[in-house]
Amino acid sequence: MHYHCTFKYYYEGINIIYTRALIARPSLILELPSRAMRASTRLFRVDGLVALSRATRSFPKLARGTVMSASGSDPNSVSGARRARVAVVGGGIAGLTAASHLARAGCDVVVYETGRGPGGRTSTRRGGPERPEWQWDHGAQYFSCKEPDGPFRPILEEWIAAGCVAEWTGVFGVLDATSGVFTLESSDAAGSKDGRGSSLAPMKKRFVGTPGMNAVCKSLASAKNVHVLTSRRVVGFEGGPTDTSPTAKWTVLHRSSDSSRAGDALTRDVGYAAIVAADKQLASDRSRRVYGEPPPAEGLRADTVRDGMRAAGQTPSFALMLAVRADEGDAPLFNFDGAVVEGDDVIGWIACDGGKPGRPGGGDFNVSSGYKDRPRTRCWVVQSTAAYAAERIKAKMTVPGTSPHAALLEEVAEEMTAATVAAARRARNVPAQTRSESPIIPEVVYAAAHRWGAAFPIDSAVVAEIAESSGSRPGCLEEPERRVVGCGDFCVSPKVDGAAISGAAAAAATLAFLGIGLGASL
Ligand SMILES: Cc1cc2nc3c(=O)[nH]c(=O)nc-3n(C[C@H](O)[C@H](O)[C@H](O)COP(=O)(O)OP(=O)(O)OC[C@H]3O[C@@H](n4cnc5c(N)ncnc54)[C@H](O)[C@@H]3O)c2cc1C
Repeated sequence: MHYHCTFKYYYEGINIIYTRALIARPSLILELPSRAMRASTRLFRVDGLVALSRATRSFPKLARGTVMSASGSDPNSVSGARRARVAVVGGGIAGLTAASHLARAGCDVVVYETGRGPGGRTSTRRGGPERPEWQWDHGAQYFSCKEPDGPFRPILEEWIAAGCVAEWTGVFGVLDATSGVFTLESSDAAGSKDGRGSSLAPMKKRFVGTPGMNAVCKSLASAKNVHVLTSRRVVGFEGGPTDTSPTAKWTVLHRSSDSSRAGDALTRDVGYAAIVAADKQLASDRSRRVYGEPPPAEGLRADTVRDGMRAAGQTPSFALMLAVRADEGDAPLFNFDGAVVEGDDVIGWIACDGGKPGRPGGGDFNVSSGYKDRPRTRCWVVQSTAAYAAERIKAKMTVPGTSPHAALLEEVAEEMTAATVAAARRARNVPAQTRSESPIIPEVVYAAAHRWGAAFPIDSAVVAEIAESSGSRPGCLEEPERRVVGCGDFCVSPKVDGAAISGAAAAAATLAFLGIGLGASL
């Protein structure tokens, strides 16, 4: 009696590969991974045995330890059960919400993310081994649940239950940069007037990822049957359903986005039953300008998805990451946790990152790291106004990774730091002629800028119209015949909650294409 067994490997950590072997007795299973490894030195991660069956005449005969390409295997077969494989392109909130819902409903999901980690615009930048206590949420600052009975509420509750989200409490309001007056938000959720009759912004509950904003995406990425491939840029798609072959599978084309691996070969992953395209950048012409390649979404041949992605428009933004001296005797940079800045051309929002819940350093000495002689610091994030970002980017078009790009970021960091320090002076009534040596303003020990080329979609209403006219469900762009769905904040609202709602809608649409019940997933 012989047995056929199937192993699942990750080839270079990227391609899922199935290896079949003919063995005389099940106890030999334990030896097979190493045999297969010897067959190809580039195999490095073994996920283990996924199927074992008695050899029959009809089973194709394979040499021992033969490594098969994914196209020659049955990628939908896991533990003998058929699972639909779905590719999600984009590891931000929308893509990973979709992925986790699909996985929970029984799909095997591979998420492709061009960044070094999951998160997208809910990212967290860290100070690295040199300054482990530094950390900035340089994208989304916080999120809220505006509609208590709306679709985001159960999603938020799940995130809180998973321990990756906490409420951010503190002092919030509006800073008038011209007068230096800070107005606390109303303690009334409906808003109110102050003693002078001015309107106060209504108080709202703010939530953040813990220990950093990217914790939400990291948590979603760790869901069972969700496999996230980072530093992989999807460059195109092939195949997919047609009139004559309505269940034909998709192939995803991708390559490394790690600049140190320039020229990295194109990889083709086959066998996807559906595609979730979770970033409108997939339809952007930027890929022609930067990489000389057509937008990946062209390969989807899904007009509703492409048109919706293109209709949304986008505005850029810069984020300034500051580390400010916070030794004993140093006053804080501002006496609030977060403020919308009014009346300044350059900066529009200031927040104390170190004051958010669960932050590792929060400005305290990190004795274990051995840096206790260094000045104590506190991290702040400042966001540019939309007008300043548009002006700066228009004045100097740059490509990430090039020196003009680095020069632009340096200039922006200088200008935004100057605007922030000036706002801090006005908030303290320090005369403008008193220069930065003034001990009242704590020393800025580190400043760096990050450019968000596509920070905020402009018009989700026009996307919703395209979705509606195509018969898509609210919150996503459906192309059922092609088994493709588009999602992202641009489909709902330019916020974390909008992205999550869209991702959940995309999962529901995909499950409907595949004829899978929603179960307990949504
Ligand atoms: C500076 C800033 C401040 C913000 N502040 C707030 C706030 O305070 N509150 C709030 O609610 N929201 C805020 N937002 C908005 C919020 O961050 C977004 O609405 C939300 O994170 C969008 O999620 P998403 O999944 O739709 O898109 P993204 O997070 O952009 O995810 C898309 C992902 O797709 C990946 N991708 C794109 N092309 C490819 C490709 N070819 N191959 C592989 N991967 C690809 C991208 O790398 C990205 O990770 C802010 C955004 C910015 C930029």
